[in-house]
Amino acid sequence: MDQERRRVVLFPCPFQGHINPMLQLATILHSHSKGALSIIIVHPEFNSPNSSNYPNFTFLPISDGLSESQQAHSSIHDAMPMLPVLNQICVSPFKDCLVNKILSQQHEPPVACIIADALMHFTQHVADSLNIPRIVLRTSSAITFAVFKVLRGKDYYPIKGTSTGAADLPRVKTNDAEGLPQLAIDMVEQTKASSGLIWNTFELLDQSALETVCQEFSIPNFPIGPFHKLTPASSSSLLTQDFSCISWLDKQAPSSVIYISFGSLAALDQAQLVEIALGLADSEQSFLWVIRPGLVRSSNDDKAYEDPTNFLPQYFNEMIQSGRGCIVKWAPQHEVLAHPAVGGFWTHSGWNSTLESICEGVPMLCWPFFGDQMMNARCVSQVWRVGLQLENELERSEIERFIKRLMVQENNKEREEMVVRVNDLKEKAELCLTIGGSSYQSLESLIDYIFSF
Ligand code: UDP
Repeated sequence: MDQERRRVVLFPCPFQGHINPMLQLATILHSHSKGALSIIIVHPEFNSPNSSNYPNFTFLPISDGLSESQQAHSSIHDAMPMLPVLNQICVSPFKDCLVNKILSQQHEPPVACIIADALMHFTQHVADSLNIPRIVLRTSSAITFAVFKVLRGKDYYPIKGTSTGAADLPRVKTNDAEGLPQLAIDMVEQTKASSGLIWNTFELLDQSALETVCQEFSIPNFPIGPFHKLTPASSSSLLTQDFSCISWLDKQAPSSVIYISFGSLAALDQAQLVEIALGLADSEQSFLWVIRPGLVRSSNDDKAYEDPTNFLPQYFNEMIQSGRGCIVKWAPQHEVLAHPAVGGFWTHSGWNSTLESICEGVPMLCWPFFGDQMMNARCVSQVWRVGLQLENELERSEIERFIKRLMVQENNKEREEMVVRVNDLKEKAELCLTIGGSSYQSLESLIDYIFSF
């Protein structure tokens, strides 16, 4: 490897599930190149990452011009419309930043390339206009991307809704069937125009989809995941992680606790929150539940919006006092999933959560909301068979039944088999990351590739 130094400019998409893998990638590139790659993170002001956790990196915020009401996102319904807006309004500020703050520094090492989140597709035009190579980071599974690409070719989008398997297709679950496809089309087209594609996945998990993508795209592909296993636990959290739940977990029996989190954007109705509480109570299972501000949609009650536990039935709160459950606003998810007391994960099937669960050998109960989560849940329940999927109307007896199927340990062959399979995938992830493994080799190739520009 040529040890001359290079600078790399990273542009994340400003949402938690995208910021985490981008900062993990930054850490991996910096440490694996032994500091020969200097990291510059250019990011919208909105949802700025905490730069003090990354003293080795340069952070350059750009003005995104978003109004306060546009920034008041805490669910996908608010976040989705921001993506096309960000792709428009960041063009000039990003280019100005590159020209005036980065490229103008003539005594600094040359800029090798831009690495941008696939959803920030505008960065391709900016990179082209300045003659800088752009590599794309796709933060989701390869299978979702392959499906976007293949179905686009077959004119399946916008989704008509009733064709076989339509419910599994990547989409916004409610009434936004039009918006996602245009974003997906732009993302796929601008990825195709890029110089390479980095994946937070590993070959032994996502192999056939990776092969499909490689056939469709004549650019180098670098599946180097799972990223979080190569980096220290998350310091890119936008909300403060509440570590008190770890001491609560310390007091629980092995594999006895179901961990419940629906990620950073999914939002429930008040009635759904209550139904979950009732189902949990009936299941008689210990639980750790992340109830973040904004988890429940409420238009006119700020207090309940900030703390949705205000919507929970009184006796449920009493059950928490008695110690059967623990509720936090935001958890240290990596540590939680790695804790021996955690025996199952009720998840919205975000890609990071899915990978994190697999890497700790924790079987899942999938309840997807939108986008790639539909496909992730299908893969978990039917392809890798390391979890179950809640598909019917959310109802307390159904919840109780599924929680018991996932969690009860005595005479539960279904659970036993899921645990064996998820531990097999966990081992495969470890194999891919060790020296000589596919992710390890891809990372070596990626670093050589960056130095070749
Ligand atoms: N996460 C966390 N604490 C929580 C819930 C989630 O740190 O209480 C992290 C989780 O580890 C993951 C990310 O937030 O890295 C969520 O990403 P994911 O792709 O699963 O879902 P999204 O938020 O994008 O829907």
